[in-house]
Amino acid sequence: MEDSVSKETLRSLPAVDEILREEAIKEAVETYPRTLVVRAVRNILDRTRKAILSGEIGPDPQYFDRSNLVGKIHEEIERLASFTLQRVINATGIIVHTNLGRSLLAQDVLERLQLIGSGYSNLEYDLQAGSRGSRYVHAEAILCEITGSEGALVVNNNAGAVVLVLNTLAQGREVVVSRGQLVEIGGSFRIPDIMARSGALLREVGCTNRTHLYDYEAAIGPDTALLLKAHTSNYQIIGFTAEVSLKDLAALGKKHGVLVMEDLGSGCFVDFTRFGLSGEPTVQDTVRSGVDVITFSCDKLLGGPQAGIILGSNELMAQLRQNPLTRALRVDKLTLAALEATLRLYRDEDAAIKAIPTLRMIATELGTLEEQAHDLLERLRNSMAAHIKGEVMDGSSMVGGGALPVQALPTKVVALSSEKISATRLEAHFRGYEVPIIGRVEQELFLLDMRTLQPGDVEVIVAAATQLAT
Ligand SMILES: *Cc1c(COP(=O)(O)O)cnc(C)c1O
Repeated sequence: MEDSVSKETLRSLPAVDEILREEAIKEAVETYPRTLVVRAVRNILDRTRKAILSGEIGPDPQYFDRSNLVGKIHEEIERLASFTLQRVINATGIIVHTNLGRSLLAQDVLERLQLIGSGYSNLEYDLQAGSRGSRYVHAEAILCEITGSEGALVVNNNAGAVVLVLNTLAQGREVVVSRGQLVEIGGSFRIPDIMARSGALLREVGCTNRTHLYDYEAAIGPDTALLLKAHTSNYQIIGFTAEVSLKDLAALGKKHGVLVMEDLGSGCFVDFTRFGLSGEPTVQDTVRSGVDVITFSCDKLLGGPQAGIILGSNELMAQLRQNPLTRALRVDKLTLAALEATLRLYRDEDAAIKAIPTLRMIATELGTLEEQAHDLLERLRNSMAAHIKGEVMDGSSMVGGGALPVQALPTKVVALSSEKISATRLEAHFRGYEVPIIGRVEQELFLLDMRTLQPGDVEVIVAAATQLAT
């Protein structure tokens, strides 16, 4: 009985050709590629067929109404035709949000991208000699100028930088690491796994909470290639703890003729204590500590494009360049253009804080955020349905990107709630808007954190709120 009903319902579904003859679909073919329209028709018919067979849709005539089907097909065409990578509004308050693309590029950087991306460049061409040059010279000089390092090498990202250094300097040999620093950062980067893939042998020393200089010293032998310190960027060990300072580790390495490396994770050139955040070592201080190799990211606290930087002596950089892996981890010209432009901004620290969005968001004062929150709330009140209530509340933003995990930045949020719509549905509405707005739900409130909003975002948020059901 059931079966015959669903068979009959199935038969009432129109054929693909029949739908393609519908006036509204013919019009779509004038705007969109025919193959895309056909695919949309097939997708909707397939989905409907499956829903009938699973019993989800009964013989409901309204469902098979042509205009209903055509409407669904139009939505599907829009979906198939739209970009998959698109702009979203970050109202989460997490500044370096890895899922939302980490750092935003400064205006000067975008202009540089436009220039270098739209024309030819001397990427690997020596203009003085009139012959082949190296792409690696472009960011090197400014990196050495800012950090005080003798040499520098840029690769695709910091994970790549760590692999390259370990593989070049420690393949088949031992790398000594404290048990308190066997870091896992998101996206399957784990020190022990990376070490194994690089061909280096992990030699763990010390305990999770305490590692001493003598632990490292006792582990040094003829097979030791490196002493590695990993910045525990996304967690903190507190209580009865001890770790060896970079300076002491560097001195120990020198004494035994063993290289010392620090994976800084999120590198930064600015002292963050000026923003009330402590514990993030600067790259410059790390260079001064005397370690041999330093690696860090460019799209975390540095606020640049995705890339990884390796600092060390010219001799070490030459060794790294000879490794075929360097070719596999090669940076693109757009990355180099964006990186050089970002780094140049650091020549004037105060200007850098104004121009680099990541730094600007960290530096924004609470009073400014409060004013902006009240302004947003007022505009929302003027345009939202009456059942939606809003208020300005205190909140906390996070730096994100695995940096400064236990320190929050005080912020102001606009909190929305309604007796008719749950906070989860409010969240879904804003996330589903044509420019998706990503906020967070806390205690039955939908929160929009002012700290990570960009110029122009407020207008979009107001437009999205206007579309909420009355
Ligand atoms: C983020 C991070 C990495 C990886 O850097 P990517 O640039 O994301 O590849 C490596 N090590 C540490 C300690 C990190 O925090």
